[in-house]
Amino acid sequence: MLDENEKHRRRMANKKRIIDERIAQAQEERGVLILLKGNGKGKSSSAFGTMARSLGHGHRCAVIQFIKGRDATGEFLFFKDHPRVDFHVMGHGFTWETQDREQDIAAARQAWALAEQLLTDGSYDFLLFDELSYMVKYGYLPVEPMVKALQRRPQHQNVMITGRTMATELQDIADTISQVQDEKHAFRLGVKAQAGIEF
Ligand code: ATP
Ligand code: MG
Repeated sequence: MLDENEKHRRRMANKKRIIDERIAQAQEERGVLILLKGNGKGKSSSAFGTMARSLGHGHRCAVIQFIKGRDATGEFLFFKDHPRVDFHVMGHGFTWETQDREQDIAAARQAWALAEQLLTDGSYDFLLFDELSYMVKYGYLPVEPMVKALQRRPQHQNVMITGRTMATELQDIADTISQVQDEKHAFRLGVKAQAGIEF
């Protein structure tokens, strides 16, 4: 009878063979479009974490925040002076804060014009469009030009988009979609938003 160690070794050898085959099959080299959606906490922070990873490899990055939330977020304070990050905070705030549709639409158009420019600039390796999805949800920006610009972008360019809900048109052209599910949140236990965790 095989002992536990030998059984384990065989199981792992088999697993390694399957994983190696899958790795060998994924040969294409190109940038990807990643969508982070859902009601749970962790979308923007994951996207900024990925940008840090990209910067570690010497890549050039840009961020557009389509909704200006708090004044000085930790991510802004940390990345704004990085020589290979262009950090653009656009918009005036959440719709329920601004309560001004015309102004929100004008800000959205301005932010999108910048996004379109970045999507044609091959010197950027990584683009983060934080909260872009709301622009579509509220009808501030049409989705078709977004799809076109994303599809025409430089081949090596990685793009991440965050937002609770994503237009199906964006999901159709995405390579990777992750949904962050809300199971528990400290806010509902009465814990105040804190620096370094929420912003
Ligand atoms: P984070 O920036 O922390 O990664 P997020 O990008 O996933 O969060 P958003 O929908 O952008 O979440 O919301 C932004 C703010 O709301 C953050 O301060 C976040 O901590 C908080 N938040 C996110 N999800 C929830 C939730 N389910 N309940 C309460 N607050 C939340
Ligand atoms: Mg977010």
